[in-house]
Amino acid sequence: MNDTTTLTAETFEYKAEMKQLLHLIVHSLYTHPEVFLRELVSNASDALNKARFRQLTDTAMLGSELPLEIRITFDAEAKMFTIEDTGIGMTKEDLVGKLGTVASSGTLEFIKSLKEQGAALDGNMIGQFGVGFYSVFMVADDVSVETRHANADSVGLRWQSDGQGSFTIEEIDKPTRGTRISFRLKDSASEFSEEYRLKSIIQKYSNFVDFPILIGKPGTEAEKANTIRALWQAPKDSVSAEEANEFYKFLTGDFQDSLGYVHLSIEGSVNFKALVFIPETPPMRPFTLDQENSLHLYTNKVLIEENCKQLLPDYLRFARGVVDTDDLPLNVSREITQSSPQMTKINKVLTGKVLGLLQDWAANDTGKYAKFYAAFGQQFKTGINSDFANREQLVSLLRFDSTQTEKGTLTSLKDYTSRMKSEQKEIYFLTGDHRETMLNNPNLEYFQKHGMEVLLLTDPIDVIVVPSIPDFEGKKLISIDKVEVSMDAASEAKEPSTTDSALLALFKDVLGEKVEDVLPSKRLVDSAVTLVVGKEGLDAQMERMMKMLDKDFKGGRKLLEVNMEHPLIKNLSRLQLADAGNPMLRQYIVHLYEGALLIEGNMPSPAIFVRRMTELMTDATNSSSRSTAS
Ligand code: ADP
Repeated sequence: MNDTTTLTAETFEYKAEMKQLLHLIVHSLYTHPEVFLRELVSNASDALNKARFRQLTDTAMLGSELPLEIRITFDAEAKMFTIEDTGIGMTKEDLVGKLGTVASSGTLEFIKSLKEQGAALDGNMIGQFGVGFYSVFMVADDVSVETRHANADSVGLRWQSDGQGSFTIEEIDKPTRGTRISFRLKDSASEFSEEYRLKSIIQKYSNFVDFPILIGKPGTEAEKANTIRALWQAPKDSVSAEEANEFYKFLTGDFQDSLGYVHLSIEGSVNFKALVFIPETPPMRPFTLDQENSLHLYTNKVLIEENCKQLLPDYLRFARGVVDTDDLPLNVSREITQSSPQMTKINKVLTGKVLGLLQDWAANDTGKYAKFYAAFGQQFKTGINSDFANREQLVSLLRFDSTQTEKGTLTSLKDYTSRMKSEQKEIYFLTGDHRETMLNNPNLEYFQKHGMEVLLLTDPIDVIVVPSIPDFEGKKLISIDKVEVSMDAASEAKEPSTTDSALLALFKDVLGEKVEDVLPSKRLVDSAVTLVVGKEGLDAQMERMMKMLDKDFKGGRKLLEVNMEHPLIKNLSRLQLADAGNPMLRQYIVHLYEGALLIEGNMPSPAIFVRRMTELMTDATNSSSRSTAS
């Protein structure tokens, strides 16, 4: 260690959350301790990328003549390990604010909950949490970080910590730019001072680092341990899926393979190379989902911008990887990438390629497509409302639950139409929360009885997406909650009898302003009444969503449809005929109406409903117990 300390060390306490996190890392993330090396190399590589980028514009930076490289020194006898880079280095603010703090405030809660669920905490996961550096405490008790930032006026600093309560920072004499991390390995981790072990880990995880990783014992000639290969620049045939996935894991910190990827080399009006992956699951880094994961933009192998938003539209921003183009000026700035017509072209080509990959899965590997859809379907679907150029393709990639699919499998609109009976002119859908409750919705009865398929839209996003698709192959998409749904098979449209008309008039009188109208129903088979949407109302699901956003929201009025064939309705007709002024009739009607509200999930006063129900049941049991007694 360096002993040319110029000032005494300043001590910093870790925040309480950080302490707990460190405890969890050291005591729970015990599998794959070798990931510490990947994390340190990855941090060094990030720092070198930043230095390389800065060199383009700042010739006055410290050590602008230094080679960009990573050096690893190990000593099996002393169990010492050192990794040193000539990257951007850290300022004191960086040491306190970045190295000493967890990036995302939800990380601790998240790791705890994983642990409580009994999920195996896998060391491989650590890269996703933004605390990769701290994996070093899986293999060391005490860690020293000596660093000097690229700013011309920077000073050398040493950060030191046992990864428990606190860390210290002091000024040191460090003439060169970059960061040097050193520690003595714990006895349980002594394997990481063995040359063959280190080399094999580097080859496994870090072959794509496009800076030399030099490795050697102290005082010996260092040897290059990685074959530098900017994988995305290599010809497609020379890159195996395995290699591509190792690259993916290195790049993203994901611990599992990607679901699939496209490897592109595009030449023409726009030129670029790209390796773009679709993850199997969304990244677990909580609360940072959208901002964090996306594509990195390189020009001529120099990283210009991480997570560059211009490369893909929002709805595809689950894709991750690298895009490298020669079409941008080397000293490109973020402002330029935002307004460049080249970027717009790249975005367009990439969008087409990613959609092509999804299309391919949808056609040839439905299992994979289903996985993709489960993980990213919600985000993907929003493309319907934003990407009009690709709309037709996007619509073809939508999948829905339906009355004719097995639970857990989804159908496309194309498959739906192929099952339609010749007399069916429209595509029907119903919105709701759960397949099971929806299957018992009275509005489905007619369709079930006639074997007509209805899409069951259970994803809240569907309520926004589907109504914006007016038709598919000339067939309109129609909510079966709507009054105007044509039900031709039941077209024996009889004129209501006078007794029916009288009962309907009584319904209208009782419900008054609560409903838009009361009509005899063609859609009901087993239920007595149901609510449907007329001119004023919204789909039940849409209405519930609006109420969630605004608790004072009063959706429009609905129509009440009455099943004139239902035994209860017939009984009511009879009661009305016997005594039109029977007060119980009015009670029954209100109760039926509120029952329909209940099914919709839009019932305002369950307590009143239950009280009335109790009264009605008391009445009914009074008369039947009296007749039993007599
Ligand atoms: P992440 O890399 O996901 O941000 P880490 O815990 O691995 O999380 O690192 C925290 C931060 O510390 C990095 O974002 C970076 O700012 C800084 N850092 C770590 N290692 C280095 C290094 N070798 N050179 C410069 N900065 C570094």
